[in-house]
Amino acid sequence: MSKATFELVCVDCRATYPGLELRYRCECGGTLDVVHDLKAVAAAVSRDTFDRRRGTTHTLDRSGVWRFRELILPVDESQVVTRGEGNTHLYDSPAIAEYAGMKRLFLKHEGENPTGSFKDRGMTVGATVARLLGMHRVACASTGNTSASMASYAALAGMRAFVFIPEGNIAHGKLSQALAFGARTLQLAGDFDAAMRVVEQVCNQENIYLLNSINPFRIEGQKAIGFELLQDLEWRVPDWIVLPGGNLGNSSAIAKGLMELHELGWIDALPRLAVIQAAGANPLYTAFHTGRPVEPIVADTIATAIRIGNPVSWKKSLRGIEALNGVVEQVTDQEIMDAKAQVDAAGIGAEPASCATVAGLRKLVSSGTIDPGSTVCGILTGHLLKDADVVVGYHKGTLDGIDAPHANTPVSVPNDLEAILAELRR
Ligand SMILES: *Cc1c(COP(=O)(O)O)cnc(C)c1O
Ligand SMILES: [Zn+2]
Repeated sequence: MSKATFELVCVDCRATYPGLELRYRCECGGTLDVVHDLKAVAAAVSRDTFDRRRGTTHTLDRSGVWRFRELILPVDESQVVTRGEGNTHLYDSPAIAEYAGMKRLFLKHEGENPTGSFKDRGMTVGATVARLLGMHRVACASTGNTSASMASYAALAGMRAFVFIPEGNIAHGKLSQALAFGARTLQLAGDFDAAMRVVEQVCNQENIYLLNSINPFRIEGQKAIGFELLQDLEWRVPDWIVLPGGNLGNSSAIAKGLMELHELGWIDALPRLAVIQAAGANPLYTAFHTGRPVEPIVADTIATAIRIGNPVSWKKSLRGIEALNGVVEQVTDQEIMDAKAQVDAAGIGAEPASCATVAGLRKLVSSGTIDPGSTVCGILTGHLLKDADVVVGYHKGTLDGIDAPHANTPVSVPNDLEAILAELRR
């Protein structure tokens, strides 16, 4: 067992707590960070250690999260609950670059994780901590991907999973996964924010482990997106990282991880960060541009993964955006679906929320914020098949309020050779 070299620190009042303690908030109500002893990390490993591990067959080394374990969570390795998450592809896509107005564009596809979203990177760590704390039941409120991921890791670890989802507002790919993996699934009236309010109370009263991104260990796992991206780029720091923002755990995580690498001296500069929100779910955008704290709103967007009006991690996210000289942009549902048509047609594909990345990048290039010649890496957060209903609706032209200029409409043809050939030659 490695010596514990981390503790929990309150984002608001800086109070500290032992690293492995059953707690999601400070006594003052603030959210918590996992703070590592970076001197101990530097003494134990280096960038080369991480690069070497990429070529081994060791189970933890092969995970795109646990390969970086000294910087994620130094714990008893036999307790780790892993599906070999990460190792996602970094696409270099001329077609999408051109659409965004860039000379070149890298896209890291986190939809290539085991359950089809980056949530697996946080969940492998969250589930491992649940086990280390001796918890047998886990729960989350979810717009879909968190519940899909948690249900899988809970099943793997032999834990009971409870998911709280907004009735009628979850994509079927995600709901299927939660049901298939055996999670007890409670559909609640109201939106994600309402489900989030109640799940924290349920967990506290019933001694169930809460695996929403308020859980600081989820954030630790998601840092590995940035670590692996830098490995993909042979540790050359890009000018910008662009990603969608909903509950804002992921932007917090990526910024935190990069700041740690910088403090360790393992990267010589920090990239800038662009967080893209849906215009109908834009509390961070408003806060960033008015300089006021986040005020909860009632959210609405076709990109259900970011349909969140009261983001739990907004302070951590803003802190990271400031440290990385970042920006916040917003995009309409139409802009999201236009970008999605391009991402999909390029042969890569992603769910709607992911495509806010490309829509936002396009906007930031056209406004002059991002230079077309700079090195940009966009994060695609979830798999195309997560929301098949939106895809089919788009191509059949049946989505409310969305124009579908790139629709690839299926045609009905009689099963007759002449008729088929006539259609093909049209
Ligand atoms: C969870 C999720 C997001 C939003 O990430 P946050 O950490 O909540 O900001 C974006 N896209 C997809 C596909 C997601 O599953
Ligand atoms: Zn506090």
